[in-house]
Amino acid sequence: MLIEVDTHCHSVASTHAYSTVKELAQSAKENGLKGFALTDHAPYSPDSPHIWHFHNLKCLPEEIHGVRVLPGAEANIIDLEGNIDLGNYELRNLKWVIASFHTPVVSNGTYDDYTRAYINLAKKYELVDVIGHCETINFPFDYELVLKHFKEYEKLVEINESSIRNRKGSRDNCYTILKICKKYDIPIVVNTDCHYCDSIGKVPVSEEMINSLEFPRELILNSDYDRLMEYINRKRG
Ligand SMILES: [Zn+2]
Ligand SMILES: [Zn+2]
Repeated sequence: MLIEVDTHCHSVASTHAYSTVKELAQSAKENGLKGFALTDHAPYSPDSPHIWHFHNLKCLPEEIHGVRVLPGAEANIIDLEGNIDLGNYELRNLKWVIASFHTPVVSNGTYDDYTRAYINLAKKYELVDVIGHCETINFPFDYELVLKHFKEYEKLVEINESSIRNRKGSRDNCYTILKICKKYDIPIVVNTDCHYCDSIGKVPVSEEMINSLEFPRELILNSDYDRLMEYINRKRG
């Protein structure tokens, strides 16, 4: 099994996803995971929950069905300066934060704009952990320059199984990104971005790519539960 923690999962709180937290935990257990991050969409997405969703995640138990539940969010990058739609209050209360470009929120940038936005974001937001599905063809940028900044400012690169399967051009871009990450020892996470519980933790296409490139397992942060928790605890205490 490639990953022990699925770090990108949506529940019914995002209205285009279809499983409850308990169902995600049950499937996570059945699929052999030790944990998952609950990362519903932050407010700028059309299908997002109310901001109170992110304030009240503390009411969830740390474990459900023996599986660790990490309270998180998938924030939107809301402009070409790399700002996101969660503030410090929310960020401090979450254990796991993804920041992603989505076309309903931003779509008018150029290659240079997206390059600048990602670099600004990396510098500005200490408590953003991961850049979501950055391989999508809608948001081109200078891979080598930006990925080096992600490493310097501790932003993990996401390999997103749903994107690779469903978004045209993502697979080829992912290969390019993985090669750069391997070359410069840039850490990644591999996750499903699941919208239904059955697929939680299942990343066969990503795994095939990783194997074909002989990508080092030690650079896949969520391939080991303890290593991932060390990272989270070091960053957030
Ligand atoms: Zn997304
Ligand atoms: Zn997502």
